[in-house]
Amino acid sequence: MKNFILSENQNFFFGDCNNCEAKCCNGKNGTLYSQIILEEFEKIYENFPILFIFGELNFIKPVVLLTNGKDFCPYLDNFKCTIYDKRPTVCRTYPLSPNIDDKIYIDVFCPEVGKNNIKIISKNSIHKNFDNEIFYDYQNKYINTHLNFENLKQNDFELLKSINNIDFYIYKGTSNSKYLKMHKDSIKNLNKFNI
Ligand code: SF4
Ligand code: SF4
Repeated sequence: MKNFILSENQNFFFGDCNNCEAKCCNGKNGTLYSQIILEEFEKIYENFPILFIFGELNFIKPVVLLTNGKDFCPYLDNFKCTIYDKRPTVCRTYPLSPNIDDKIYIDVFCPEVGKNNIKIISKNSIHKNFDNEIFYDYQNKYINTHLNFENLKQNDFELLKSINNIDFYIYKGTSNSKYLKMHKDSIKNLNKFNI
């Protein structure tokens, strides 16, 4: 199961995804959803459901649903991603991940972390194959996303489904912001997920 640790001031090496049967795309390994920022909505809403969860202090958070919690992502075929150029940011940067503390974490559950092919992250740089604009100024992007939804009322959300004890919600209110429109459009993708 996932085990993200702080990468700060350390070198981490990475092997080759060809040695792995797409562990990071498998619901059985804990891949279920990923929190997203506003900048990601447009890139993913045509292929994935964008849903909401309520976090600490009932803060509403938009998330992309990646699996149904037990199967592989529906876009995986023969252990290859069939939408490689349109895959969500979390898939582009994995096993690296940005965080609200503006530091970068690495998932040591990935079996190729620690194998010596490339230096995936060091004190001053991220390998170009994993580098992404999301790593830069992430804290502000996260806060902007929070501010965009903070005035919505909890009553305007309806429970869609609880998966692995996570409650996923759909917005049922009247606001028609561009992000909520993309959320509503993205719901059609639920039928790909066998839930
Ligand atoms: S990133 Fe890690 S878990 Fe995902 S396919 Fe590559 S080696 Fe496997
Ligand atoms: S979009 Fe591609 S890389 Fe991401 S979980 Fe699905 S199959 Fe894996």
